[in-house]
Amino acid sequence: MRCLNCHTEYEGHYCPECGQSAKTSRFTVKSALSNTLDVWGMGSRSLPRTIWHLLIRPGQMIGDYLDGKRMPYFPPVKMLFVLCVFYALITSFGHILTGEPAGGNHMEETTQIAEALSERGKDKPLFDFGIGKVSVEGAAQGLSQTLDWFYGHKPVTLLCLHLLVTLSTWCVFRRAPKRPHTTLAENFFIQVLISSQLMVLSLLYILVFGEQDGAFFYPLPGWLLLGLFIWDFKYLFGYSWPKTVGLTLLTHLSVLLLFILLCTLFFALLSLALVPSAVG
Ligand SMILES: [Zn+2]
Repeated sequence: MRCLNCHTEYEGHYCPECGQSAKTSRFTVKSALSNTLDVWGMGSRSLPRTIWHLLIRPGQMIGDYLDGKRMPYFPPVKMLFVLCVFYALITSFGHILTGEPAGGNHMEETTQIAEALSERGKDKPLFDFGIGKVSVEGAAQGLSQTLDWFYGHKPVTLLCLHLLVTLSTWCVFRRAPKRPHTTLAENFFIQVLISSQLMVLSLLYILVFGEQDGAFFYPLPGWLLLGLFIWDFKYLFGYSWPKTVGLTLLTHLSVLLLFILLCTLFFALLSLALVPSAVG
């Protein structure tokens, strides 16, 4: 055989240099069809099969993937993006049916949050970092615009959230009996796969119960989210059930602390951006 891609001479079904199949030929209706279906993966690598494993044995499947069983499963990051596209399609279809606008403006609720944070009233600054002051309205507007942007970019929002969880699981589960010393990169893949699992369940949830208002990350109830994390971590890291519950709560607590830290940073940057004259 002579490879049509890199012109290597070889024997067998695949080119040893670039991996192109020996069956590569001119496009036909059949190959065009299979190329189109390839978005969902083929055979054992298919998306439905990977999702099925994520639903019935998530912890074990994620463990398999980390241990090197990569070929049987659909690539995780690709899967998360396909699921997010699916989610956006279904929710926007729901909005067309009900006639409600998608996304929505968060101005009202964020003004309430900002006002609640500031007991000193509307005219006084909400935050004063010495370099500039943030008014209640300014903070609410900045927060509202930021929230609207994240609301419209769900994959980015989910990745940002799970990057925070990546950091905290990496710290909290360092001494796990089943998988000690997982790397940051491995924890990133754990979170991408957990996010895919939660996206699939969210899709099923909104198909049954309809879309919940203000579902920023996942529309699933909090107790279910926590339960799923506990289930995943139990089979992934191999701690006892009570210890897994404790460490999962610790993980979420540290995510909350990280989030508060980032929000403080956000307001500090906002105060710089909003009142440039105060610097001079
Ligand atoms: Zn080749």
